[in-house]
Amino acid sequence: MSPSPEIMLGLSLPDVARWSERVTVALGQNPGAFTGPGTNTYLLGTGAQRILLDTGQGVDAYLPVLERALDEAGCSGIESIVLTHGHPDHTGGLAQVLERFGTCPVKKFPGPGDAALGVAIEPLADGSVIETEGATLRALFTPGHAVDHLCFVVEEDSALISGDNILGVGTTVIPAESGDLLEYMQSLERALCEAPRRIYPAHGPCIEDGVAKIREYIAHRLLRERQICAVLADAPAGATVPEIFAIVYEAYPQALHAAAGQSVTSHLIKLEREARAQRSDGDDPVQARWQLA
Ligand SMILES: [Zn+2]
Repeated sequence: MSPSPEIMLGLSLPDVARWSERVTVALGQNPGAFTGPGTNTYLLGTGAQRILLDTGQGVDAYLPVLERALDEAGCSGIESIVLTHGHPDHTGGLAQVLERFGTCPVKKFPGPGDAALGVAIEPLADGSVIETEGATLRALFTPGHAVDHLCFVVEEDSALISGDNILGVGTTVIPAESGDLLEYMQSLERALCEAPRRIYPAHGPCIEDGVAKIREYIAHRLLRERQICAVLADAPAGATVPEIFAIVYEAYPQALHAAAGQSVTSHLIKLEREARAQRSDGDDPVQARWQLA
């Protein structure tokens, strides 16, 4: 199972919106506790044929919205599909889009779920450049939320398509099993180096001050890490994930607990990899007792 781990509640966005002359958003029609207002899918470029970046989850209501987005963007077709990563709320609409608009190249960073997508994938790598009329995309390999995650610089807009690494609202959760918080933090630093003016996230509205938002994300993670270390410092016999969680996330709404629990686990695994924490009483990170190293 590969749940989409984005948590945002209570925000709605228009189905179709133009964020720049070369960027039109079609909302995936898959709102929920894990996707917020739904997955943003992007029509990119200024020509008759555009790049479609991400495809939503595969719900029936998405296709009419995508058709409207093509209309409003002033284009007639899709020349290629680019995917930020393999999670189902980004790839689930692939089959329906290809069926409706015809076969076209599908590009992403290779990942473990690619075979299940049912189409040939043209592999993208760090630094790959994809050009269409009016838009140039440059891929940044930015793992951590997912092993196959790419962000894309939209050169003409000085903008970063951030996928699930940076969101317009809420916090990206790093899945304890398949994610990697250490890599994620490095990916945030990588994104910061691009100094993007704007960020186009996979969930939530356009972010107008890209650099400030990335700094906020980094600061938030470091704060959580300090809080977790403080709990461990106060627990000479060690503490379990639920015990740490109960202290750090005391004020959190119940609906967000499952994802926040994964976040504690991801932090502990990161601290362990950095030789700053260690576990005893078993391998299972949730059952184990954790202590500062
Ligand atoms: Zn994701």
